[in-house]
Amino acid sequence: MNPPERPRAYIAIRLPPDARARIEAECGATFFEGKGAPSREELMAALANAEGVLGSNQLPMDAEVLASGPRLRVVSNFGVGFDNVDLKAAQERGVLVCNTPGVLSDAVADLTLGLIVALARRLPEAERFVREGGWGTRPGLALGTDVRGKTLGIIGLGRIGIAVAERAQAFGMSIVFHDVFSESPDEASFCSYRELDDLLAEADFVSLHVDLRPETHHLVSEREFGLMKPTAYLINTSRGPVVDQAALVAGLRSGELAGAALDVVEEEPLPADDPLTTLPNVILLPHIGSATVETRQAMLDLAIDNLLAALRGERPKAVVNPDVLS
Ligand code: NAP
Repeated sequence: MNPPERPRAYIAIRLPPDARARIEAECGATFFEGKGAPSREELMAALANAEGVLGSNQLPMDAEVLASGPRLRVVSNFGVGFDNVDLKAAQERGVLVCNTPGVLSDAVADLTLGLIVALARRLPEAERFVREGGWGTRPGLALGTDVRGKTLGIIGLGRIGIAVAERAQAFGMSIVFHDVFSESPDEASFCSYRELDDLLAEADFVSLHVDLRPETHHLVSEREFGLMKPTAYLINTSRGPVVDQAALVAGLRSGELAGAALDVVEEEPLPADDPLTTLPNVILLPHIGSATVETRQAMLDLAIDNLLAALRGERPKAVVNPDVLS
C-alpha cells in the first residue's frame, strides 16, 4: 500500500535550515529561493498544487491569486497584519487565514517609543551634527523637548497600542486613545478615551496602531493634520496607507505639525525620489517594527505552527477567519 500523500506547501519567504526541516518533516514543500518576494506569476504558478502557503504579509493574496490555488486550504502570514489577503475571497473558497498576533507587540512598541524619543530629542539631527564635526548644542543644534508631562494620543488601542501605552506611562506621559470602543481595556485603564478630533487637537505625539482596513485607509489626512498642534509629532508604525502621505508632506511643509517618524509608507519600498526624503523633520525607517532576532524567531515558529496545524486538519493557534472552520 502506498503511504498517504503528504500535503504540499509553498514557502514564499527565505527560511533557515531548521525551519525548512520542520516543514519538510510533514509536507512536500517548494521553497522560494529568489531575492525579495516571488513575482505574481511565480506565486500563482506555485499555488497550482499547493494546499498551504507561508509568506510575508506583503504577499498579495487577492481573489485572483487565491483562485490560482484550487487546493489551497491555508494562508499562513508571517506577520500580524493581514491586509494583504482578500478575506472575503478566502472565506468563499474556505481558505483559513492565519497570522502572528502578540509575539511582535513588544518589539513594535519598543521601536515606537524609540521614535518618540528620537523625534523629541532630535536624535538623527544630533547624530549628523557630530559626524559633521559639531559638538554640544548651540550654535548649530536646537534644543529638544521633554516627553515627561506630554500627551501621547494612541489611535488603535489594540495589542501594540497597549504595549506602547505601558511604556509611555513609564516615561511620565499622559495617554489618551481613540478606538472603535471607548472603554479602556483593563490592562490600559490609565488611558482616557477621546473622539478622534479631540485626540488630534490635544496630543503632543500622535501614534498610529490601527490595522489597515477600508475604514482606516487615509484615517489621517488633510483635515486631521489641520487639527493637530503645530508642535505635535506623528508616529506611524502601523501601515502606510493609514496616512494620506501627500497630505502629510503638505502638512510638514506648511508647519501644521512639527515632524513625523514613519516605519511604514504608502508605497514600499519608498521610492528614492519621494518628497519625504527631502524633508528634514521626518525620520524614515524601512518597515522594521518586528525586526529583532528574538521576535522574528517567535513569529516564524508561530507561522509554521499555524501552517502545519491547518494542513493536519487541526485548529491553528492564530486564525483570522475562524468561521471557515465551521
Ligand atoms: P490589534 O490588536 O488588532 O489592534 C488594532 C486596533 O485598532 C484594535 O483595537 C482595533 O479595534 C482598532 N481599530 C480598528 N479600526 C479602527 C478605527 N477605524 N478607528 C480606531 N481604531 C480602530 O492589532 P495589533 O496586533 O496591535 O497590530 C496593529 C497593526 O500594526 C497591524 O495590523 C499591522 O498593520 C501593524 N504592524 C506593523 C508592524 C511593523 O513592522 N511596523 C509590525 C506589526 C504590526 P477592534 O479590534 O475592536 O476592531
